[in-house]
Amino acid sequence: MTRPQPSVLVIDDNTDLAENIGEILSDIGVDVHLATCADDAMACFDDRKWSLVVTDVRMPGIDGIELLALIKERSPGTPVLVMTGYADRETTARAHDSGALAVINKPVDLDALLEMVEHVAAAEKPVLVLEDDVALIGNLTDLLREEQGVLPHPATNLALARKLAAVVDFRAALIDLRLPDGNGLALARELLRRSDGSRRRVIIITGYPEELSQAVRDDAQIDDDRLVVLAKPFQVPNLLEYLREMV
Ligand SMILES: [Mg+2]
Repeated sequence: MTRPQPSVLVIDDNTDLAENIGEILSDIGVDVHLATCADDAMACFDDRKWSLVVTDVRMPGIDGIELLALIKERSPGTPVLVMTGYADRETTARAHDSGALAVINKPVDLDALLEMVEHVAAAEKPVLVLEDDVALIGNLTDLLREEQGVLPHPATNLALARKLAAVVDFRAALIDLRLPDGNGLALARELLRRSDGSRRRVIIITGYPEELSQAVRDDAQIDDDRLVVLAKPFQVPNLLEYLREMV
Protein backbone atom coordinates (compact mmCIF):
# COMPACT_ATOMS: atom_id res chain seq x y z
CA MET A 1 0.00 0.00 0.00
CA THR A 2 1.43 3.37 -0.90
CA ARG A 3 1.16 6.07 1.66
CA PRO A 4 -0.67 9.26 0.74
CA GLN A 5 1.64 12.15 0.01
CA PRO A 6 2.33 14.02 3.26
CA SER A 7 1.27 17.66 3.34
CA VAL A 8 2.96 20.29 5.47
CA LEU A 9 1.92 23.86 6.14
CA VAL A 10 4.89 26.12 7.03
CA ILE A 11 4.25 29.50 8.66
CA ASP A 12 7.02 32.07 9.12
CA ASP A 13 7.15 35.83 8.55
CA ASN A 14 10.72 35.28 7.39
CA THR A 15 9.88 34.30 3.80
CA ASP A 16 13.47 33.25 3.00
CA LEU A 17 13.44 30.69 5.77
CA ALA A 18 9.93 29.50 4.89
CA GLU A 19 10.95 29.04 1.24
CA ASN A 20 14.12 27.25 2.25
CA ILE A 21 12.15 24.79 4.40
CA GLY A 22 9.56 24.49 1.63
CA GLU A 23 12.23 23.53 -0.90
CA ILE A 24 13.84 20.80 1.15
CA LEU A 25 10.45 19.33 1.99
CA SER A 26 9.34 19.42 -1.65
CA ASP A 27 12.56 17.59 -2.53
CA ILE A 28 11.50 14.60 -0.45
CA GLY A 29 8.03 14.53 -2.01
CA VAL A 30 6.09 16.54 0.54
CA ASP A 31 3.21 18.73 -0.62
CA VAL A 32 4.21 22.05 1.00
CA HIS A 33 2.26 25.24 1.43
CA LEU A 34 3.76 28.45 2.84
CA ALA A 35 2.06 31.19 4.86
CA THR A 36 3.57 34.32 6.39
CA CYS A 37 1.04 35.03 9.14
CA ALA A 38 -1.53 33.29 11.32
CA ASP A 39 -4.55 34.64 9.40
CA ASP A 40 -3.24 33.22 6.12
CA ALA A 41 -2.45 29.97 7.89
CA MET A 42 -5.96 29.59 9.32
CA ALA A 43 -7.46 30.15 5.86
CA CYS A 44 -5.51 27.06 4.78
CA PHE A 45 -7.76 24.92 6.98
CA ASP A 46 -10.93 25.88 5.12
CA ASP A 47 -10.84 23.09 2.61
CA ARG A 48 -8.10 20.67 3.53
CA LYS A 49 -6.18 18.73 6.16
CA TRP A 50 -2.46 18.78 6.88
CA SER A 51 -0.16 15.98 7.97
CA LEU A 52 1.86 18.50 9.95
CA VAL A 53 2.06 22.23 10.64
CA VAL A 54 5.39 23.94 11.28
CA THR A 55 5.12 27.43 12.72
CA ASP A 56 7.38 30.25 13.82
CA VAL A 57 6.53 31.94 17.14
CA ARG A 58 7.32 35.63 16.68
CA MET A 59 5.27 37.03 13.84
CA PRO A 60 3.33 40.26 13.36
CA GLY A 61 -0.23 39.90 14.63
CA ILE A 62 -1.21 36.58 16.19
CA ASP A 63 1.92 34.78 17.39
CA GLY A 64 2.74 31.15 16.62
CA ILE A 65 1.58 29.83 19.97
CA GLU A 66 -1.79 31.58 19.75
CA LEU A 67 -1.98 30.13 16.24
CA LEU A 68 -1.23 26.68 17.65
CA ALA A 69 -4.16 27.06 20.05
CA LEU A 70 -6.45 28.11 17.17
CA ILE A 71 -5.36 25.10 15.12
CA LYS A 72 -6.06 22.78 18.07
CA GLU A 73 -9.59 24.24 18.20
CA ARG A 74 -10.16 23.88 14.50
CA SER A 75 -8.31 20.67 13.72
CA PRO A 76 -7.15 19.09 17.00
CA GLY A 77 -5.61 16.01 15.42
CA THR A 78 -3.15 18.01 13.32
CA PRO A 79 0.36 17.82 14.83
CA VAL A 80 2.02 21.23 15.21
CA LEU A 81 5.75 21.83 15.43
CA VAL A 82 6.83 25.14 16.93
CA MET A 83 10.16 26.68 15.94
CA THR A 84 11.64 29.64 17.70
CA GLY A 85 14.83 31.61 18.09
CA TYR A 86 13.76 32.38 21.63
CA ALA A 87 13.20 28.99 23.22
CA ASP A 88 13.19 30.27 26.78
CA ARG A 89 11.37 28.39 29.48
CA GLU A 90 8.20 30.47 29.19
CA THR A 91 7.87 30.10 25.43
CA THR A 92 8.52 26.38 25.62
CA ALA A 93 6.01 25.96 28.46
CA ARG A 94 3.35 27.93 26.57
CA ALA A 95 3.90 25.80 23.49
CA HIS A 96 3.59 22.52 25.40
CA ASP A 97 0.60 23.83 27.29
CA SER A 98 -1.14 24.52 23.97
CA GLY A 99 -0.46 21.06 22.56
CA ALA A 100 2.76 21.42 20.55
CA LEU A 101 4.23 18.19 19.20
CA ALA A 102 7.71 19.67 19.68
CA VAL A 103 9.55 22.92 20.13
CA ILE A 104 12.62 23.27 17.94
CA ASN A 105 15.31 25.91 18.06
CA LYS A 106 16.23 28.37 15.35
CA PRO A 107 18.42 28.29 13.41
CA VAL A 108 16.51 25.21 12.33
CA ASP A 109 18.44 21.97 11.99
CA LEU A 110 17.00 21.04 8.59
CA ASP A 111 18.06 17.39 8.80
CA ALA A 112 16.30 17.04 12.14
CA LEU A 113 13.21 18.74 10.70
CA LEU A 114 13.18 16.37 7.72
CA GLU A 115 13.48 13.43 10.04
CA MET A 116 10.55 14.69 12.09
CA VAL A 117 8.35 15.20 9.00
CA GLU A 118 9.17 11.69 7.81
CA HIS A 119 8.44 10.28 11.25
CA VAL A 120 5.05 12.00 11.44
CA ALA A 121 4.15 10.91 7.91
CA ALA A 122 5.02 7.29 8.72
CA ALA A 123 3.51 7.16 12.21
CA GLU A 124 0.55 4.80 12.37
CA LYS A 125 0.22 4.52 16.12
CA PRO A 126 -1.34 7.62 17.67
CA VAL A 127 -0.97 7.88 21.44
CA LEU A 128 -2.81 10.36 23.65
CA VAL A 129 -0.59 11.98 26.29
CA LEU A 130 -2.75 13.81 28.82
CA GLU A 131 -0.67 15.42 31.55
CA ASP A 132 -0.90 18.95 32.92
CA ASP A 133 2.70 19.25 34.11
CA VAL A 134 4.17 21.13 31.13
CA ALA A 135 7.75 20.05 31.81
CA LEU A 136 6.73 16.39 32.09
CA ILE A 137 4.50 16.43 29.02
CA GLY A 138 7.29 17.99 26.95
CA ASN A 139 9.64 15.29 28.13
CA LEU A 140 7.17 12.44 27.50
CA THR A 141 6.21 13.78 24.09
CA ASP A 142 9.85 14.06 23.04
CA LEU A 143 10.60 10.53 24.22
CA LEU A 144 7.51 9.04 22.55
CA ARG A 145 8.33 10.77 19.29
CA GLU A 146 11.51 8.69 19.19
CA GLU A 147 9.51 5.45 19.21
CA GLN A 148 9.08 3.92 15.81
CA GLY A 149 5.66 4.49 14.30
CA VAL A 150 4.35 6.35 17.35
CA LEU A 151 2.80 9.79 17.06
CA PRO A 152 2.15 11.40 20.45
CA HIS A 153 -0.81 13.78 20.72
CA PRO A 154 -0.16 15.90 23.81
CA ALA A 155 -2.87 17.65 25.82
CA THR A 156 -2.51 19.45 29.15
CA ASN A 157 -6.25 19.68 29.79
CA LEU A 158 -9.30 17.49 29.51
CA ALA A 159 -11.04 19.74 26.98
CA LEU A 160 -8.32 19.29 24.35
CA ALA A 161 -7.99 15.57 25.17
CA ARG A 162 -11.72 15.09 24.52
CA LYS A 163 -11.51 16.94 21.22
CA LEU A 164 -8.58 14.74 20.26
CA ALA A 165 -10.34 11.54 21.30
CA ALA A 166 -13.28 12.50 19.09
CA VAL A 167 -11.16 12.62 15.93
CA VAL A 168 -8.10 10.43 16.53
CA ASP A 169 -8.32 6.64 16.82
CA PHE A 170 -5.80 6.26 19.62
CA ARG A 171 -3.83 3.07 19.93
CA ALA A 172 -3.02 3.89 23.53
CA ALA A 173 -3.53 6.69 26.03
CA LEU A 174 -1.54 7.97 28.94
CA ILE A 175 -3.86 9.75 31.32
CA ASP A 176 -3.07 11.81 34.39
CA LEU A 177 -6.12 11.98 36.66
CA ARG A 178 -5.80 15.40 38.23
CA LEU A 179 -6.21 18.00 35.55
CA PRO A 180 -6.97 21.72 35.69
CA ASP A 181 -10.42 21.25 34.18
CA GLY A 182 -11.45 17.97 35.77
CA ASN A 183 -10.58 14.33 36.38
CA GLY A 184 -9.25 12.10 33.59
CA LEU A 185 -11.00 8.97 34.82
CA ALA A 186 -14.17 9.35 32.76
CA LEU A 187 -12.16 9.72 29.57
CA ALA A 188 -10.04 6.67 30.48
CA ARG A 189 -13.24 4.64 30.93
CA GLU A 190 -14.68 5.84 27.65
CA LEU A 191 -11.55 4.91 25.74
CA LEU A 192 -11.47 1.45 27.28
CA ARG A 193 -15.18 0.85 26.75
CA ARG A 194 -15.50 1.95 23.15
CA SER A 195 -16.91 -1.06 21.40
CA ASP A 196 -15.15 -0.57 18.11
CA GLY A 197 -13.19 -3.81 18.27
CA SER A 198 -9.98 -2.00 19.08
CA ARG A 199 -7.67 -3.37 21.76
CA ARG A 200 -7.03 0.15 22.93
CA ARG A 201 -4.86 0.43 26.02
CA VAL A 202 -4.67 2.98 28.79
CA ILE A 203 -2.08 3.95 31.36
CA ILE A 204 -3.47 5.95 34.26
CA ILE A 205 -1.15 8.02 36.40
CA THR A 206 -2.39 8.54 39.94
CA GLY A 207 -1.44 8.92 43.57
CA TYR A 208 -3.97 6.20 44.56
CA PRO A 209 -3.18 3.22 42.35
CA GLU A 210 -4.75 0.20 44.13
CA GLU A 211 -8.14 1.67 44.81
CA LEU A 212 -8.44 3.08 41.36
CA SER A 213 -7.20 0.03 39.56
CA GLN A 214 -10.00 -2.13 40.96
CA ALA A 215 -12.66 0.54 40.48
CA VAL A 216 -11.88 1.00 36.79
CA ARG A 217 -11.59 -2.72 36.11
CA ASP A 218 -14.87 -3.58 37.83
CA ASP A 219 -16.64 -0.78 36.11
CA ALA A 220 -15.38 -1.24 32.61
CA GLN A 221 -14.84 -5.02 32.70
CA ILE A 222 -11.38 -4.52 31.38
CA ASP A 223 -8.76 -7.21 30.86
CA ASP A 224 -5.73 -6.55 32.96
CA ASP A 225 -3.49 -6.24 29.97
CA ARG A 226 -5.40 -3.26 28.63
CA LEU A 227 -5.00 -1.11 31.72
CA VAL A 228 -1.96 -0.13 33.69
CA VAL A 229 -2.26 2.05 36.76
CA LEU A 230 0.99 3.73 37.58
CA ALA A 231 1.64 5.33 40.95
CA LYS A 232 3.10 8.79 41.19
CA PRO A 233 5.94 9.51 41.41
CA PHE A 234 6.96 7.14 38.62
CA GLN A 235 10.15 6.55 36.69
CA VAL A 236 9.90 7.75 33.10
CA PRO A 237 11.78 4.67 31.76
CA ASN A 238 9.18 2.39 33.40
CA LEU A 239 6.38 4.34 31.78
CA LEU A 240 8.05 4.13 28.38
CA GLU A 241 8.45 0.40 28.79
CA TYR A 242 4.71 0.00 29.40
CA LEU A 243 3.93 2.19 26.43
CA ARG A 244 6.24 0.19 24.19
CA GLU A 245 4.46 -3.00 25.19
CA MET A 246 1.13 -1.37 24.54
CA VAL A 247 1.62 0.04 21.08
MG1 LIG B 1 9.46 35.48 13.11
